Amino acid sequence: MTDSRLLDIRAIITDVDGVLTDGRILLIDDREAKFFSIRDGLAMKVANDSGLHIALLTGRASLAVSKRASELGLKIVKNGRLDKQLALNEILSELGLTADCVAYVGDDLPDLAPMSLARLSFCPSDAAMDVLDRADVVVPVQGGHGVLRWVIEEVMRAQGRWSRVVDRFGVSHA
Ligand SMILES: [Mg+2]
Repeated sequence: MTDSRLLDIRAIITDVDGVLTDGRILLIDDREAKFFSIRDGLAMKVANDSGLHIALLTGRASLAVSKRASELGLKIVKNGRLDKQLALNEILSELGLTADCVAYVGDDLPDLAPMSLARLSFCPSDAAMDVLDRADVVVPVQGGHGVLRWVIEEVMRAQGRWSRVVDRFGVSHA
């Protein structure tokens, strides 16, 4: 995609269920399981380590989310936050950023408020209808299958940062 707003993005704030996962949860007694994409994980770690902040914001309190964030070294995790607009403002204050330099990724109605505040909003291709209608960008990937990977690559490619990531994996440009 070509969009000059990509150049302004300093942080990506993402919902979890339906974006980083396919939205399904497996409940066994009092424990909960989710599937996360390894490719999303690599991109989130690489981006966050290189200074493009990645923050998780989920309405559902879940130990699986804390565990995944910890594996990826993500410091900013708002878990079990029903008021996503308030939580978004807390994240901005912790990062010392304003909403005009963040992207937000969400898939359902609780995401509409933070999406409307962010500089750029993204949603998976199987997001809820009202979200599909309002997102700046509909990612051509379903929730849980690499949505964040797509968003991060778009932002970092636009900013000329992705090739440095690839270089770190030992690719030669001969
Ligand atoms: Mg969701």
